[in-house]
Amino acid sequence: MIYIGNHVSVSDGYLEMGRHAAELGGDTFAFFPRNPRGGKSKAVSPEDVRALGEFTAERRFGPLVVHGAYTMNVCAAREEVRANSLEMLRDDLIRLQALPGNLYNFHPGSHVGQGRETGIRQIAEALDAVIRAAEAVSGGPLGNRILLETMAGKGSEIGGCFEDLREILDLTVELGGTERRDQLGVCLDTCHVWDGGYDIRGDLDGVLREFHRVIGLEALRAIHLNDSKNPCGSRKDRHEKLGLGEIGPEALRAVVRHPLLQGLPFILETPNEDEGYRAEIAQVRTWMK
Ligand SMILES: [Zn+2]
Ligand SMILES: [Zn+2]
Repeated sequence: MIYIGNHVSVSDGYLEMGRHAAELGGDTFAFFPRNPRGGKSKAVSPEDVRALGEFTAERRFGPLVVHGAYTMNVCAAREEVRANSLEMLRDDLIRLQALPGNLYNFHPGSHVGQGRETGIRQIAEALDAVIRAAEAVSGGPLGNRILLETMAGKGSEIGGCFEDLREILDLTVELGGTERRDQLGVCLDTCHVWDGGYDIRGDLDGVLREFHRVIGLEALRAIHLNDSKNPCGSRKDRHEKLGLGEIGPEALRAVVRHPLLQGLPFILETPNEDEGYRAEIAQVRTWMK
């Protein structure tokens, strides 16, 4: 089995997110701890966070997949943007120390003309710095695993191929030691890898073999389950409702049922409102059978 859920809004608090996700049929969910376009996150009451932890434990939810703001770019060319992004990342991780045992996923970033190598180094340095900061502030080990998301590779995006993520992980381990291996991982977005040129429709086994060869499947901790509006290799990153895009229902069903992906949290990031998500969650549950 897999865990399935969608993105829910943090605007009514933490416990309410759990209730909302469960009401839609989910047993995991994703949320942005702050406005996805950036900006300040609201103050959170520790009781509310604790209440969500109890709710998800009681309901046997899988790990939640928190999403870092889209505006974060820890390898931006402008120093000011980099500093600001580092601050957001650090603040998110410190805040989430109160909700341990979950996953925090973010977009590695775009190097904006600095070159791939510089970008990868800046991402690894940022990860090392924020992990140290979160541990220093909270006085304990990092409570949540940080995931790098596979990207479509548009523009100067890093993470459009598995090799990019492998290099970031290796460099972070070089900087912070082998315990970083257990603090980091990867979230595979089906729309992004498809748009990035990995043919999960024609050869899902081959793509997973390639993931294992380059990164190692033990690093794979979450799936973003999306269809794509564009053909394989288009490098576009436009999500589509499940089964209505170029990847199609048969291939997405195969992803949900793949033996190597069982036990992972799957998050829908399809263009839907509540009723659409409810229907897709039900659809995924029939695929699981
Ligand atoms: Zn994402
Ligand atoms: Zn995604």
